[in-house]
Amino acid sequence: MRVAKVEEKLFQNRYRVDGGRPHITIKNPDHCASQCESRQCTVCCPAGCYTEEGNGRVVLITDGCLECGTCRIICHDKNVDWEYPRGGYGILFKFG
Ligand code: SF4
Repeated sequence: MRVAKVEEKLFQNRYRVDGGRPHITIKNPDHCASQCESRQCTVCCPAGCYTEEGNGRVVLITDGCLECGTCRIICHDKNVDWEYPRGGYGILFKFG
Protein backbone atom coordinates (compact mmCIF):
# COMPACT_ATOMS: atom_id res chain seq x y z
CA MET A 1 0.00 0.00 0.00
CA ARG A 2 1.31 3.43 -0.94
CA VAL A 3 1.75 5.87 1.95
CA ALA A 4 0.91 9.50 1.18
CA LYS A 5 3.60 12.12 1.75
CA VAL A 6 3.05 14.87 4.32
CA GLU A 7 2.77 17.45 1.54
CA GLU A 8 0.01 15.44 -0.09
CA LYS A 9 -1.91 15.19 3.18
CA LEU A 10 -1.55 18.92 3.86
CA PHE A 11 -2.95 19.60 0.40
CA GLN A 12 -6.21 17.97 1.52
CA ASN A 13 -6.78 20.75 4.07
CA ARG A 14 -8.57 23.96 3.29
CA TYR A 15 -7.83 27.34 4.81
CA ARG A 16 -10.16 30.29 5.09
CA VAL A 17 -8.18 33.53 5.25
CA ASP A 18 -9.36 36.27 7.61
CA GLY A 19 -8.17 39.13 5.41
CA GLY A 20 -5.99 41.65 7.22
CA ARG A 21 -6.39 39.87 10.60
CA PRO A 22 -3.62 37.28 10.97
CA HIS A 23 -4.14 35.26 14.15
CA ILE A 24 -0.37 35.10 14.79
CA THR A 25 2.05 38.00 14.62
CA ILE A 26 5.72 38.49 15.36
CA LYS A 27 5.84 41.08 18.14
CA ASN A 28 9.18 42.59 17.16
CA PRO A 29 10.62 41.45 13.81
CA ASP A 30 13.86 43.35 14.49
CA HIS A 31 14.44 41.10 17.49
CA CYS A 32 14.43 37.97 15.27
CA ALA A 33 17.08 39.47 13.02
CA SER A 34 19.37 40.87 15.68
CA GLN A 35 18.85 38.81 18.87
CA CYS A 36 17.79 35.32 17.81
CA GLU A 37 20.49 33.11 16.33
CA SER A 38 18.55 29.87 15.91
CA ARG A 39 15.25 31.10 14.44
CA GLN A 40 13.68 27.75 15.26
CA CYS A 41 10.29 28.85 13.93
CA THR A 42 11.65 28.68 10.39
CA VAL A 43 12.42 24.96 10.70
CA CYS A 44 9.79 23.76 13.20
CA CYS A 45 6.55 25.05 11.67
CA PRO A 46 5.00 22.05 9.88
CA ALA A 47 3.15 24.33 7.50
CA GLY A 48 6.19 26.41 6.57
CA CYS A 49 4.57 29.67 7.66
CA TYR A 50 7.89 31.20 8.75
CA THR A 51 10.68 31.92 6.31
CA GLU A 52 14.03 33.56 6.91
CA GLU A 53 15.19 36.22 4.53
CA GLY A 54 18.82 36.72 3.61
CA ASN A 55 19.23 39.56 6.09
CA GLY A 56 18.06 37.39 9.00
CA ARG A 57 14.58 38.84 9.16
CA VAL A 58 11.77 36.34 9.63
CA VAL A 59 8.61 36.64 7.54
CA LEU A 60 5.38 35.08 8.80
CA ILE A 61 2.47 34.25 6.51
CA THR A 62 -0.27 32.51 8.47
CA ASP A 63 -2.21 31.18 5.47
CA GLY A 64 -2.18 27.41 5.87
CA CYS A 65 -1.38 27.49 9.61
CA LEU A 66 -2.36 24.19 11.24
CA GLU A 67 -2.96 25.83 14.65
CA CYS A 68 -0.59 23.33 16.26
CA GLY A 69 0.95 25.91 18.62
CA THR A 70 4.55 24.87 17.97
CA CYS A 71 5.75 28.39 17.18
CA ARG A 72 4.18 29.69 20.38
CA ILE A 73 6.27 27.26 22.41
CA ILE A 74 9.46 27.10 20.37
CA CYS A 75 10.15 30.85 20.43
CA HIS A 76 12.36 31.07 23.52
CA ASP A 77 12.10 34.86 23.52
CA LYS A 78 8.27 34.81 23.50
CA ASN A 79 8.29 37.07 20.47
CA VAL A 80 5.07 35.63 19.04
CA ASP A 81 1.53 36.85 19.68
CA TRP A 82 -0.66 33.80 19.17
CA GLU A 83 -4.40 33.30 19.25
CA TYR A 84 -6.86 31.08 17.44
CA PRO A 85 -8.50 32.49 14.32
CA ARG A 86 -11.97 33.95 14.63
CA GLY A 87 -14.83 31.53 14.24
CA GLY A 88 -15.32 30.43 10.65
CA TYR A 89 -11.72 31.18 9.68
CA GLY A 90 -8.51 29.23 9.70
CA ILE A 91 -7.79 25.60 9.00
CA LEU A 92 -10.40 23.09 7.92
CA PHE A 93 -8.96 19.62 8.21
CA LYS A 94 -9.85 17.00 5.67
CA PHE A 95 -8.67 13.44 5.58
CA GLY A 96 -8.52 12.44 1.96
FE1 SF4 B 1 3.17 26.87 12.05
FE2 SF4 B 1 1.92 25.54 14.01
FE3 SF4 B 1 2.70 28.10 14.38
FE4 SF4 B 1 0.67 27.53 12.74
S1 SF4 B 1 0.71 27.22 14.98
S2 SF4 B 1 2.37 28.97 12.32
S3 SF4 B 1 1.34 25.57 11.84
S4 SF4 B 1 4.04 26.30 14.05
